[in-house]
Amino acid sequence: PAGKPPMEADAVRDLEPGQAHYLGTVMRLAPGAEVALFNAGDGEWLASLVAVRRDRAQVRLLHRRRAPEPVCGPVLLFAPLKRDATDMVVRMGTELGVTRFLPVLTERTNTHRVNVGRLEAIAMEAAEQCERLDVPTIGEPARLPEQLAAWPAGSTLFVAAERGGPDDGVGEIDRVADGDGLLVGPEGGFSDAERRMLRARPFVRMITLGKRILRADTAAACGLSLMGAGFRR
Ligand code: SAM
Repeated sequence: PAGKPPMEADAVRDLEPGQAHYLGTVMRLAPGAEVALFNAGDGEWLASLVAVRRDRAQVRLLHRRRAPEPVCGPVLLFAPLKRDATDMVVRMGTELGVTRFLPVLTERTNTHRVNVGRLEAIAMEAAEQCERLDVPTIGEPARLPEQLAAWPAGSTLFVAAERGGPDDGVGEIDRVADGDGLLVGPEGGFSDAERRMLRARPFVRMITLGKRILRADTAAACGLSLMGAGFRR
């Protein structure tokens, strides 16, 4: 994203220092080079580099190459994991179409601190990498009962439960609607009390992702892939 003002042809825009560094130092681009700008709400623009010096760069907008796309996709509720695994969840989730990440603190969550700014930067980088025109948002961490209390009426929350009950399958996870979500637990899994709390909510569908115990980041990617089939994104 190249800042907030509306995009229009011929406008000259300053880039962020990190973007300038990437174009000038990492990619070694010189003035005149063409670059693509992704900007939430404005689609994708072709631009020409006007000047680039260390952490400063300016581009001139040429024309819009892609119109903005409607933003739709699943919400991912996840128990924060060790740093690398949390980064992986946000990176893969962004590629797989998540529109909003909600960190959930459960009884067995080991990591209670979440660096929201860092995860926002990872989401932006992943959105650029997969050429996605919107960047998912990252919510502040909240306890499981609070997240459930705030869950929007009419949306389904699929809960990935290892060692699920005899009737749990993948249900209708491949026929999800915009705003539906997936909840994945921490390394230690959900407690019995949490399972009871989840099963008591009318909007919850417990699902199993097979008989193997998957790592939480693997379970997130697996569940989101199944949901992706429903969104056709
Ligand atoms: N320590 C737990 C145990 O041994 O039962 C395993 C927790 S697992 C590493 C982390 C999370 O991934 C779980 O809370 C669940 O949300 C998800 N998960 C892992 N395997 C799964 C499966 N086969 N089906 C559904 N969810 C699964």
